[in-house]
Amino acid sequence: MGLFDGKKGVVFGIANERSIAWAITQQLFAQGAEIGFTHLPDKDPERPKNANKVKKLVEPLGAKFVVPCDVQKDEDLDAVFAKITEQFGKIDFVLHSIAFAPPADLTQEVYKCSRAGFSLSMDISVYSLIAMCGRAKAIMNPGGSILTLTYLGGEKVIPGYNLMGLCKSALESSVEYIASEMGADGVRVNALSAGPVRTISASGVGDFKKMLTLYETFSPLRRNITEEEVGKSGMFLLSDMSGGITGETLHVDCGYHVMGGPPLDAFGN
Ligand code: NAD
Repeated sequence: MGLFDGKKGVVFGIANERSIAWAITQQLFAQGAEIGFTHLPDKDPERPKNANKVKKLVEPLGAKFVVPCDVQKDEDLDAVFAKITEQFGKIDFVLHSIAFAPPADLTQEVYKCSRAGFSLSMDISVYSLIAMCGRAKAIMNPGGSILTLTYLGGEKVIPGYNLMGLCKSALESSVEYIASEMGADGVRVNALSAGPVRTISASGVGDFKKMLTLYETFSPLRRNITEEEVGKSGMFLLSDMSGGITGETLHVDCGYHVMGGPPLDAFGN
């Protein structure tokens, strides 16, 4: 018996085997979920690198479909939700694990970011969740769960996180508003705030190695989280085990977020 026996849903945001969405997906499959997937469309259809990477991971585990979706395009989102409806009828969960900011804007001070870079980052990293929730509302079963991924840099200043911090603030606020709006349908909306994990997106954040060291030194558990831990917590938030939780940002970061200053042993004896 799995927690997801008979449950169906869709996962947005696997790029490769390091993606947080893949860590959560493995836990969902282990619990019996039926899942459809999207991938970033390939520029050259003759060389479908993005599609192949995702298919290689999810098809052996029984993916129900793998389709392209650029979340900046309404027509792509419409096509994906048409596919979901055709395949499953109603669904029980949606995982949104997507973010992007142009490197030139992300690696500079926030006050230097361009209007175009700001709009693009907010569109891909925030509006995409709103667009998905709007389309999912009609086909979510009561008890359904929507989950997005966020980071502490949306609540506090984390040097180097810059423009993405603004996106995560807006994302977490969107989670709260949409949770209040979809709660009447019995649908929950939450965010998982993960500590640093080495992924493609993380490599765009300046000084990522230093962030890993920061967590090893300052977090209550004195280490970094594992992908498996993020995977299990993500599965929990998508499952009935978290039935009373909505509008929440759950920190899965070895406790880093509670610290108001460094542990005294960080200074040596
Ligand atoms: P990742 O690069 O594996 O995943 C990001 C995904 O976004 C990719 O699959 C990419 O294809 C997708 N994407 C980007 N632009 C898109 C578009 N226009 N249309 C469709 N898809 C698009 O990296 P990740 O670290 O797994 O990131 C997943 C989420 O987790 C992001 O929201 C990220 O901010 C968040 N997060 C990451 C960390 C970390 O340390 N890695 C920590 C906390 C939160």
